[in-house]
Amino acid sequence: MNIDDPAVDQRRLADLRASLTAGYAAQSARLRELTELTADTGDPGAAYGHSALVAATRTSIEQINGALRRIADGSYGVCEKCAVRIPVARLEALPHARFCVPCQSKQHG
Ligand SMILES: [Zn+2]
Repeated sequence: MNIDDPAVDQRRLADLRASLTAGYAAQSARLRELTELTADTGDPGAAYGHSALVAATRTSIEQINGALRRIADGSYGVCEKCAVRIPVARLEALPHARFCVPCQSKQHG
């Protein structure tokens, strides 16, 4: 039994790529909506909330983009710091994860 069967892995990656691409399209549409809907309410609080939302959407597009790039170049699912394979469960919870859990927690520490 080989759980690292490349065929299975390829199929999983293809599914992931499809869902990331869909997420990318959704976030891009959202960003376009947000940037077009710059309703000038004259309320600085609303303007701040709006720009925070735009920034969050941009970050999420960037993360999706990065994941798609790593799928394309074959480095997806490998920790960028210590080069271990990131557990599938973590990738399922966080598809754009760039680091394994220990490296990620060191980043915050
Ligand atoms: Zn790591």
